[in-house]
Amino acid sequence: MLLTVIGCWGAYPNKGEGTSAYLIQHEGFNLLLECGSACLSLLPEYLPPEKLNGLVLSHYHSDHIADLGCLQYVFRVNTELDIITDPLPVYGPGSGEGFQKLTYCDYTKGIELVPGTPRQLGPLVCHSIFNSHGEPCLAIKIISNAGTPAERTLVYSGDTGWDSGLVSFCRGADVLLCESSLYNKFEGMLSGHLTAGQAGKLAEESGIKTLVLTHFPHYGRIDDLKKEAESVFTGRTMMARSGLKIEI
Ligand code: ZN
Repeated sequence: MLLTVIGCWGAYPNKGEGTSAYLIQHEGFNLLLECGSACLSLLPEYLPPEKLNGLVLSHYHSDHIADLGCLQYVFRVNTELDIITDPLPVYGPGSGEGFQKLTYCDYTKGIELVPGTPRQLGPLVCHSIFNSHGEPCLAIKIISNAGTPAERTLVYSGDTGWDSGLVSFCRGADVLLCESSLYNKFEGMLSGHLTAGQAGKLAEESGIKTLVLTHFPHYGRIDDLKKEAESVFTGRTMMARSGLKIEI
């Protein structure tokens, strides 16, 4: 399974860079995880957007869905041109107005991700649980080659504050892609987001191999986030950046 970071900023994009969006590819299946701002201008570096086979959303805050409407137009235009025939399945938590917007005529189809109920996405298996973000938000686990010796696991934290339920959910994952919106000095001052030290603690307690920090703040020196995570986590810590590829 190949993970490519498309965008990694929290809240709003940076010059020439985007907010949350990650491409997961396995056996010819192309899954987009989050669809933040600038996603559609950056994604074509790696994949024509109309080649996506699915989109998974953790929640419906703007920095995770900003380009969803334009992606729906990609599927409309390419369907009308007879380039594609099937609607894009868009998976997300099944609540409220945000979920309603996932379905766009016959071009994209909203499908509820039910926490605790695994879902097959092409060759991948997806698990989810609710985390702690103030509004319904999912942590997402994607498994390739499930049940075989070649099984590999990616866990994505979504946006979340500290939540001890995440420790067992992440346990044994090969890669944890974890939000680190805050420097340690802001611990306890903003609910619904993790400090880098808490991301490191989650990685350490769940015994994952590689921690990839993402969802960065626009202030301070973000390299300090890596140091704060590394002060707790004894495995490998990496910083997300647009274009970073990790073979899992
Ligand atoms: Zn959020």
